Amino acid sequence: MKIYKFGGASVRSAEGVENLARIVAAEPARLLVIVSAMGKTTNALEEVLDRFMRNRSDEAIERFAEIERYHRQIVRSLFADPSSVEARTEKLASEVRELLRSETCREDYDRWYDRIVSYGELLSTVIVSEYLAAQGTPNRWLDMRGLFVTDSRYREATINVDRSARALRRAVDAAPERVLVGQGFIGATPAGRPTTLGREGSDYSAAMAGYLLDAGSVTIWKDVDGILSADPRLFADTMLIPELSYLDAIELAYAGAQVIHPKTIKPLQNKNIPLYVRPFGDPTKPGSVICASPPVPPGVPVRILKGRQVLISIRPKDFSFVLEERLADIFSVFGQYRQKINLIQSSAVNLSLCVDDSRYLERVVDALQTEFRVVYNRDMELLTIRGYDQITYDRYAEAEGVFLVQKTRRTARIVRSASH
Ligand code: ASP
Ligand code: MG
Repeated sequence: MKIYKFGGASVRSAEGVENLARIVAAEPARLLVIVSAMGKTTNALEEVLDRFMRNRSDEAIERFAEIERYHRQIVRSLFADPSSVEARTEKLASEVRELLRSETCREDYDRWYDRIVSYGELLSTVIVSEYLAAQGTPNRWLDMRGLFVTDSRYREATINVDRSARALRRAVDAAPERVLVGQGFIGATPAGRPTTLGREGSDYSAAMAGYLLDAGSVTIWKDVDGILSADPRLFADTMLIPELSYLDAIELAYAGAQVIHPKTIKPLQNKNIPLYVRPFGDPTKPGSVICASPPVPPGVPVRILKGRQVLISIRPKDFSFVLEERLADIFSVFGQYRQKINLIQSSAVNLSLCVDDSRYLERVVDALQTEFRVVYNRDMELLTIRGYDQITYDRYAEAEGVFLVQKTRRTARIVRSASH
């Protein structure tokens, strides 16, 4: 059993779906194919939700109609006879429209998010599954809302290992087809309420499916050649890293390397399942593999740039206490609003934190302001250099616009202005 995961960029067009079908047909092994929402559908659904939450149902439905048109156009260029697939997508679409018209209380943003945004993956997988069948690859469509059993932490749910293992194995064993198709990013609570696993969560879905099914490998098909020493959209001089250890991969993912979601590595490491990152555009290329013990470390400095950062500086209003005594309280405020902290630097009276910019930031600051003086700079970015050498270090740490530098023997981290 192998797991193949295709992200939104891979299935954003009819050509993408055709390419997916060729890759799936060429693989002889039993395969669970995990698919994201097509293109930017998740963002578009967030826009729909935004209108809905502000009680603008008509606008929400209009926006959703654009999403429907986008999918219809892909379907029409894939299928000579789209009637069967359109009956299924139309059924899903009508469920969404019904939700958008409902008069029930619109208070719980996170829960509504999961109910509505999860349709992106439902639509994409129905299209992919029907297309594979039309191309002569019989397959079983799985509704992961019944198979990934999660807690009810909406928008950031965690998969329950035991219950999901049972449900997923049963579904896989019951299907005679070689190929199974399921959604990334979504699951449901034991009561059947839809949940999502956090943005870009499909990699995590694929990794967990690999873990729960004891897969031989997990492959993430991407629009890059593999794992590179930096994001080629941001840096000119990049190199392919053919093999990487789980540990390095975890560090890179947490530093913001977009190529893999941070939650992806751990389950695979636990069962020693290799993770391949391969180019969707050219399946003849080997890509990269993440595994227990590659023969050599990367050998080149790896740079990761995390954008949309805020540098916060916190100090007591008066000096009746030192900051150290209050660290736990401060961190719990961040935890309460699920505000991710990416870097910490502290002294007796000052704490500097680099955090993701989010819709909850103002609330965190408000909560802290009763006791602390809080100042912050928006529009920052965090550059992590793993395995830095002196030249690379000097090039970035000594540059203009740098606010803070932190360094260990292997890793240098630099908070700098994004507009320098
Ligand atoms: N469709 C979801 C997102 O865009 C999950 C994923 O693509 O991994 O965040
Ligand atoms: Mg995506």
